[in-house]
Amino acid sequence: MADPKKIRVDLRKNRSKPPREKGWTRDFREDSDQNYHSTERIRAKGDLSRKRTIITDQKTDGDSQPDDTIMPSIDVSQCQLGRVVRVHGLQNVIMTEDGTEYRCTVRRVLKNLSIDERNVVTTGDKVWIQTAANQEGVIEKIEPRYGILTRKSWKREHVLVANVDQLVIVAALAEPYLKPHLIDRYLVAASMGQLKPVICLNKADLVNQADFQSILGLYRQLGIPTILTSATTHTGIEELKDLLKDCQTVFSGQSGVGKTSLLNAIQPGLELLVREVSETNQKGKHTTTTAELIKLHFGGWVVDTPGIRQFDLWNVVPPELDGHFPEFRPFVTACGFPGCSHLQEENCAVKQAVEEGWIDPQRYYSYCGIYQGTESQEWSE
Ligand code: GDP
Ligand code: ZN
Repeated sequence: MADPKKIRVDLRKNRSKPPREKGWTRDFREDSDQNYHSTERIRAKGDLSRKRTIITDQKTDGDSQPDDTIMPSIDVSQCQLGRVVRVHGLQNVIMTEDGTEYRCTVRRVLKNLSIDERNVVTTGDKVWIQTAANQEGVIEKIEPRYGILTRKSWKREHVLVANVDQLVIVAALAEPYLKPHLIDRYLVAASMGQLKPVICLNKADLVNQADFQSILGLYRQLGIPTILTSATTHTGIEELKDLLKDCQTVFSGQSGVGKTSLLNAIQPGLELLVREVSETNQKGKHTTTTAELIKLHFGGWVVDTPGIRQFDLWNVVPPELDGHFPEFRPFVTACGFPGCSHLQEENCAVKQAVEEGWIDPQRYYSYCGIYQGTESQEWSE
């Protein structure tokens, strides 16, 4: 373990927002960062410098992972290691190694750390908790993450799930109609989050499957396992189970494409479980469950991501975007202009490859859309 160090950390700015901001509309918040900052002058004295000294045993210099937030040093002998299996509002349900579930809050110092994230704890996180009576506890420390699915939400990072291996991108062949650019956007998210992608084209019972062979071929040629499924007729369900076995998988896709139905087809009885979760919500009213880890009885875990109305990519750096389109790579170095965006430049080998049929035009349009930040208008439901 590294030597403990005292460091000064920034606390989150929005903690000191004056109460009257609460009533402001979402539009106002969304469209003006300037207005947001102008509230500073009416903050109470002392609020302007929100720093705190914490003791950490993490390295703070150099190459920490981008999501490797500085964590306070804790005495782990007083704590238990667990996994966040779901988040209900302010309450996190943690499962420890022996399978016991604890309802936990988050230690204030963690909540206040200055990070770009919407939530400090997310489903899939590995955390250290101090437990108390009644299966309650407090999260003291979050372990560094690998394999994340993340999106942009209100100009902040929303990590939907952490510590998973693969992303199953669920799309429907009909109802709603197939949107290849959405698949491509999720593929970029998988690449950025270091997740292995799988594409699941559902509702195969509603279409003539021969009409979709070209899209199947396109993604398979890119080396991405791509399957046709139907939760209704159970087509492709065994194939899907083989892909999930012994893996930690997150399911994502537009709502209505059949994610829940597929999960129920994979593991009958899950429906019951989902219903139970909302029924046990203590206040008896509906709270959005962001994501829930579910153990598969044939080995592995799955997480659904319900309630995602749109999927905007977080932190895409346009000049690095071509790195997330693997079929562009052989051509990128041949572009005439170093740092070519492949949009308007002359002597662009990527554009040439599109014209000559080496790169699929649909994939190139997806690239252009993401590069130019067309964002979510066409993605929202
Ligand atoms: P989710 O929002 O992605 O979880 O989608 P749901 O599982 O709630 O499914 C949305 C609707 O599509 C429901 O009415 C399902 O019965 C229907 N559905 C799901 N999968 C299939 C399928 O493979 N074929 C057909 N015909 N309908 C499906
Ligand atoms: Zn180029």
